[in-house]
Amino acid sequence: RSSFLMLGSLSLLMGAGLILTYRNVARELALAKLKSDFVSNVSHELRTPLALIRLYAETLELGRISTTGKQQEYYEIIRKESERLTSLINNILDFSRIESGKKEYTFRETNVADLVRSTLESYRFEIEQNGFQFEQKIDSDVPPLWVDREAIARSLLNLVNNAVKYSSNEKYLGIRLYRHNSGVNLEVVDHGIGIPAKEHLKIFEKFYRVGDPLVHNTKGSGLGLSLVRHIVQAHGGEVAVESSPGKGSKFIITLPLQRFANGVSA
Ligand code: ADP
Repeated sequence: RSSFLMLGSLSLLMGAGLILTYRNVARELALAKLKSDFVSNVSHELRTPLALIRLYAETLELGRISTTGKQQEYYEIIRKESERLTSLINNILDFSRIESGKKEYTFRETNVADLVRSTLESYRFEIEQNGFQFEQKIDSDVPPLWVDREAIARSLLNLVNNAVKYSSNEKYLGIRLYRHNSGVNLEVVDHGIGIPAKEHLKIFEKFYRVGDPLVHNTKGSGLGLSLVRHIVQAHGGEVAVESSPGKGSKFIITLPLQRFANGVSA
């Protein structure tokens, strides 16, 4: 009887093993698919701005554009496309540092309200020019926090870029910074295409992009939100999303009040 029981348990274990192996294989296959999508998305994202920069630079060089207004417009396109390239490359570099465990943070006592204002200053004009209603509400009682300024600025810009990229007819961008009991919240709100509830956790995974034609018509690497989450967690914080399709999204970064230095609570 005991050998019968043993055989039974053995086959149960083997069955469980098979299910686990199947799950691992399925997970690996899904990741491989995401990675290959990522490579083609990124190649596309790199090639488009490079092609535009080259085209506009060559046209200017040939001296075919006579009016200063038009020239100014071309210079502006070159600058914007270079900025897009820089931000994509920074995201990829950051991502590879994180994956290899080499990402380091430099925490400094920071006036986060000033950081948010200065990060958005140059974008605000551009966003408003593109027809967005821009609202910024920064409370005056936000205490200084220990943060890596560049990393927090990059997180904010990733969220803002998404809000702009995934906007709909109602172009709205809202930024809110306020203090609550255990920390400081930084919110980025849009009235864009929104995200179905079943995708709310997945969008923070590396390479993941929602499988919707509205999303696939926009360029993206699927890295932005995974970086935001990594950066915010390195600060002892969290990032969350509230969103529904057709209504828009709100991303909330929560940073704790404790002092942080070199990733360790001091
Ligand atoms: P991507 O480079 O694709 O924008 P992210 O990691 O920044 O990568 O975002 C992952 C996915 O989450 C996006 O592809 C998109 O489907 C969804 N998403 C992110 N932000 C928004 C937003 N503000 N509104 C609608 N969908 C969003």
